[in-house]
Amino acid sequence: MLSSLLQQTGGGEFHVINPATEAIEASVGLASVAEADAAIDRAASAWPAWRAVSPADRGRLLRRFADLVDAHLEELAQLEVRNSGHTISNARWEAGNVRDVLNYYSAAPERLIGKQIPVAGGIDVTFAEPLGVVGIIVPWNFPMPIAGWGFGPALAAGNTVVLKPAELTPLTAIRLGELALEAGFDEGVFTVIPGKGSVVGQRFVEHPAVRKVCFTGSTSVGQQIMRGAADQVKRITLELGGKSANIVFADSDIEKAAATAPYGVFDNAGQDCCARSRILVEAGVYDKFLSLLEPAVQGVKVRNPAEDDAEMGPLISAKQREVVSSYVEGDGVDVAFRGDVPGGSGFWYPPTVVLPTSTQDRVWREEVFGPVVSVLPFTDEADAIAKANDSEYGLSGSIWTRDLGRALRVSRGVEAGNLSVNSHSSVRYSTPFGGFKQSGIGRELGPDALAAFTETKNVFYSQD
Ligand code: NAD
Repeated sequence: MLSSLLQQTGGGEFHVINPATEAIEASVGLASVAEADAAIDRAASAWPAWRAVSPADRGRLLRRFADLVDAHLEELAQLEVRNSGHTISNARWEAGNVRDVLNYYSAAPERLIGKQIPVAGGIDVTFAEPLGVVGIIVPWNFPMPIAGWGFGPALAAGNTVVLKPAELTPLTAIRLGELALEAGFDEGVFTVIPGKGSVVGQRFVEHPAVRKVCFTGSTSVGQQIMRGAADQVKRITLELGGKSANIVFADSDIEKAAATAPYGVFDNAGQDCCARSRILVEAGVYDKFLSLLEPAVQGVKVRNPAEDDAEMGPLISAKQREVVSSYVEGDGVDVAFRGDVPGGSGFWYPPTVVLPTSTQDRVWREEVFGPVVSVLPFTDEADAIAKANDSEYGLSGSIWTRDLGRALRVSRGVEAGNLSVNSHSSVRYSTPFGGFKQSGIGRELGPDALAAFTETKNVFYSQD
C-alpha cells in the first residue's frame, strides 16, 4: 500500500499530518515542473489508444475500477480519517461516492449519442469528441469525492487525466491512482501527481497538452486559473467558495429546522463549500429558533473522528484553526453559544454560533470554512431573498417552509446553484452541482457532466 508515496520528489517532500493527533502520517514526494511535464506528456501519449477503446470496454473498465474502490472502501475511508480528520462515517460515504460516480459514468461511453440534424443535400451529424488531457486540481476538504467528480466523467468521455491532490491531503488520491492501474487502465490514462499548486497546478494551466482544467478550491486561486487559461483559451470548470443561506420561515417545522441546522453547516467541521453558514430566521420565530438551536449545537458529537458515532472531527490544520478563530476571537463578535471539543492534541475548534450586528460584518460575508455559523433575522419573503442574495457567492442553500407557493417563489428567487427545501441535501452524483456568481463556472455530476469533457463536432456528409 502507498508504495508510490515518494516516486516524485523533484519538488521536495511534504509531511502529511493527522489532524486529530498532530502526528506525521506519511511523507509524500512533491513533483517538480519537469516531473509534472513528464506525467502530462505520458497522458498525452496514452490518449490516442484510450479514446480508441470501444465504448463498451471503456464502460467495463470503469466498472472494474468501481468494484476495486468498493473492495477497498474501508481502507480508503480509514486513510481519509488519518489524513483529513474526517469522521469515519463521512469517509465511508466519500469512498462510496467515488464508486457510485464511476458506476454512474460507466454507462456514459455507450450513451454519448450525437444528433442527426435534417439538412438539404446529405446528412448532418454531431459527435461528442474527447478533449485530450484533462487536468484536475483538488482541494483538501473533500479529497475523494471532488477527485471522482472530475476523473469519472472525464475518463468516460475518452480523455486521459492528470490529477493533483491538495498538498495536505494526497493519500487517498494516490491510492485511487494505484487502484486504477490495478483495474487495468494503461499507464498514463489516469495519473495522480502530488505537488504544489504553484508548481504542478500551474503547469496544468500552462502546458499546451492539457486541454482542460477542472479546478475546485478558493475563489482567489480560481480567478488566477481563469486568467492563466485565457492565454490558450483553455477550457475550465471552476467550483469555488460559498456562503450559503439557510432560510427559516415562521410557518416551517421550526423544531426540525433547528435540529438539522448544525448538520447543514458543521459537517466536515464546516470545511464544506456548501455549508449553510448564514442562517436567516423570520423575525417572529427568531428567539424560539435560537432557543432550539442551542441544545442542537451542544449535542453535536465532536470527537476522535475514527469513532463510529463521531459527527464532527478537527479542522485540517493549525493554520486553518487560526483562520477560523480570526473570524470570532480576532473580530470580537458576539458568540451566542458553542459546543464542546476534546482536549489534548488535534486541530479542534468548537461548533460556534455567532450573532452579527448586520449583513456587513466580516463573519457574515466571508467564507469562514470552519464550524462557525451566523444567525440574523429577516422581516418578510422579499427581505429573506434580498439578504440571501446579498453575497458574491451562490453555491448552495436551504429553505424551510410548509407553504408550497413560497417554496417555489423563494427557490426561484435565491441565486444559487443547489437548493434544498426542508432538508440540507446538496450533492447527489445523478444531479448537477455547481455555483452561481463567484462560486464557479460550469456544472459537475448529473446527466450532462460529459458535455464539459467533450467538444461538439458537426459534420455534413454530402450525398453527391
Ligand atoms: P486552494 O484554492 O488554496 O487550493 C485548491 C487546490 O488548488 C490545491 O490543490 C492547491 O494546491 C491548488 N493551487 C493552489 N494555488 C494554485 C495555483 N496557483 N495554480 C494551480 N493550482 C493551485 O483551496 P483550498 O484551501 O485547498 O480549499 C478550500 C476552498 O475550496 C474553499 O474556498 C472552498 O469553498 C473551496 N471548495 C469549493 C468546492 C465546490 O465544489 N465549489 C468544493 C470544495 C472546496
